[in-house]
Amino acid sequence: MTQSVLKISGLKVAYGGIQAVKGIDLEVNKGELVTLIGANGAGKTTTLKAITGTLPDCKVDGDIHYLGKPIKGTTSFQLVKQNLAMVPEGRGVFTRMSIYENLLMGAYVRDDKAGVEADIEKWFGVFPRLKERAAQMAGTLSGGEQQMLAMARALMSHPELLLLDEPSMGLSPIMVEKIFEVVRNVSAQGVTVLLVEQNAKLALQAAHRGYVMDSGLVTMSGNAKDMLDDPRVKAAYLGE
Ligand code: ATP
Repeated sequence: MTQSVLKISGLKVAYGGIQAVKGIDLEVNKGELVTLIGANGAGKTTTLKAITGTLPDCKVDGDIHYLGKPIKGTTSFQLVKQNLAMVPEGRGVFTRMSIYENLLMGAYVRDDKAGVEADIEKWFGVFPRLKERAAQMAGTLSGGEQQMLAMARALMSHPELLLLDEPSMGLSPIMVEKIFEVVRNVSAQGVTVLLVEQNAKLALQAAHRGYVMDSGLVTMSGNAKDMLDDPRVKAAYLGE
């Protein structure tokens, strides 16, 4: 039976007089990798911020349910305790700590020491570049490696839902490929993921389902493979 992890209904967000999100519905079920794509300014990041309760001065209307419970207005700290993890744009790793220490910080809400160590080994398996550099200061990593570390750190909290905001942003084409490879591997481990991306092609290739956002509205949604073949998606987002 499908279990709903995230269900957004009629979400609207306004920054003062600017309506950035104009009433969207979106759902993520357990085990799915769902992507939200769209151009700059479409409202994708605002949607993620509405989920994580990081829009303090905005008017947020509509409903957001996480694991069946309404979470609108819940603080991001409370959401982390409820196993909802977000990797924001720009990453934010602890630059003066080693990779290993960053991963331990990701597990600060947990008290099962043996489980934490086992998880570090597990995620080192998915992110071998981090394992090779475990003692290295995070601030000395490349942008792509920092992105991987931010993801691995978020995974250390055992998230029921992992929110990724543009993980490929600003990276070289080779690193972008690697990032999508790890996103697919993370999903294959059973983690439920909502991936916001401007790289529509790679995002749809990795995802089970997709949503297209344009000017604050969801204009298309469906099976990711079908969307890759859709002439409207091809023309507007895949440059074909
Ligand atoms: P990008 O990929 O560029 O981050 P996006 O799809 O994530 O784009 P948002 O960042 O959600 O888009 O922005 C949606 C709209 O809301 C844009 O028109 C943007 O200018 C506006 N906006 C975002 N943040 C604010 C803010 N703090 N105050 C006023 N307007 C904002």
